[in-house]
Amino acid sequence: MRKQTASKTVLVTGGAGFLGSHLCERLLRDGHTVIALDNLFSSTKDNIAPLLKNQRFEFVRHDVVEPFMAEVDQIYNLACPASPVHYQYNPVKTTKTSVMGAINMLGLAKRVKARILQASTSEVYGDPNVHPQVESYWGNVNCIGPRSCYDEGKRVAETLMMDYHRQNKVDIRIVRIFNTYGPRMQLDDGRVVSNFIVQALRGEDLTIYGDGLQTRSFCFVDDLIEGMVRMMNQDGFIGPVNLGNPDEFTMQQLASEVIRLTGSKSRLVQRPLPADDPKQRKPDIALAHDRLAWTPKVALAEGLRRTIEEFRARVTG
Ligand code: NAD
Ligand code: UDP
Repeated sequence: MRKQTASKTVLVTGGAGFLGSHLCERLLRDGHTVIALDNLFSSTKDNIAPLLKNQRFEFVRHDVVEPFMAEVDQIYNLACPASPVHYQYNPVKTTKTSVMGAINMLGLAKRVKARILQASTSEVYGDPNVHPQVESYWGNVNCIGPRSCYDEGKRVAETLMMDYHRQNKVDIRIVRIFNTYGPRMQLDDGRVVSNFIVQALRGEDLTIYGDGLQTRSFCFVDDLIEGMVRMMNQDGFIGPVNLGNPDEFTMQQLASEVIRLTGSKSRLVQRPLPADDPKQRKPDIALAHDRLAWTPKVALAEGLRRTIEEFRARVTG
C-alpha cells in the first residue's frame, strides 16, 4: 500500500529527454520521488547527470514498447522522439513507441491505480483548417505521409487514454503540447529553434525551409512544465487541453530574432519545404486559462536569450 502523502512517487517516461529532464528536475524540487525511464534514443544521460546524486531520483534504461512494473502514484508519459529528424529515422518504431508505450503505461496505471498524463501534441491537428486551434477541432492529418508515424501514433495514444478511462476507469490527463523550446534541446535534433541557434552561433547560414512564411508559436520550457504539473495535480478535468504560447511568428521572424540576439553575421538561405509541413499553428489556450489558471509568462525574446546562453556553452565549449 502506498503512502497517501503530498510527496509522491512519480514515473516519467522519456525522463532523460528535453522536456522530461526539466520535468524531473521540477518534481524533485517539489519534494517527490522520481523514476526516469528512457531508452536514450533521442537524448543522453548528460541531461539528467546533475539529478543522479539526488537520493529521490532513479534512472532506468528501458524501452516503453516493453512492459514495466513499479509502484507509483503518477505517470507522465513523454517517451517518444519529438523532432521530425528523430521520429522519421525509424517510423515503424515511432508508431510502436506511441501505441505500445501508451498501452504499457495505461496497463501499469490501471494495475497500481496511478494517475497518468499523456504528452500529446499539436500535431494531432495536422495542417489545420481552423486557426487558432481549439481542443474541439478534430484536425486535418495525412495518415500516409512522412509525419504520419508521429501524428497518428499520438492520435491513437489519445484514443487509448480515453478508452482506458471509459472502460477501466483509469485516471487520465491529456495535454496537447505546442512547439516548446529551451535549454537542453539536442544540438542536432533538427528542430527550428535549435537549428537556428546552432547555425547563428557557428556563423553558418540559417536554413529557412520553403518561403519561411509558415508560422509557429513557441513556448518556453518552464512555462510548459508549469502547465503540465498543474494539469496533473487538479481534479475533475481530464482534458485534452492545449498548452503552448499563443504568440505566433513566421520562421523568417524567428530567424531575424535569433540573429539579433546572438549578434551573428549569419545570413538566411532557403531550403525545400518538407512534405506535409503545417502552414500555421497557434494554440487557443482559453481552456488552460479557465481550468488551470495557466498562461505562459516568458516572451520569445527572453526565452531565446536564456536558451542561447546555454547553447553557447555547448556549441563553443
Ligand atoms: P525528446 O526527444 O528530447 O524526448 C523524448 C525522450 O523519449 C528521449 O529521451 C528519448 O530517448 C525517449 N524515448 C524515445 N523512444 C523511447 C522508447 N521507445 N522508450 C523509452 N524512451 C524513449 O523530445 P521532447 O521535446 O522532450 O518531447 C517529449 C514529449 O513531449 C514527446 O512525447 C513529444 O511528442 C512531446 N511533445 C514535445 C513537443 C516539443 O515541442 N518539445 C511538442 C509536442 C509534444
Ligand atoms: N524549419 C526551418 N528551418 C529549419 C528547421 C525547421 O525553416 O532548419 C521549419 C519547418 O519547416 C517548420 C518549422 O520550422 O515549418 C518548425 O519546424 P520544427 O521541426 O521545429 O517543428 P514542427 O514542424 O514539428 O512544428
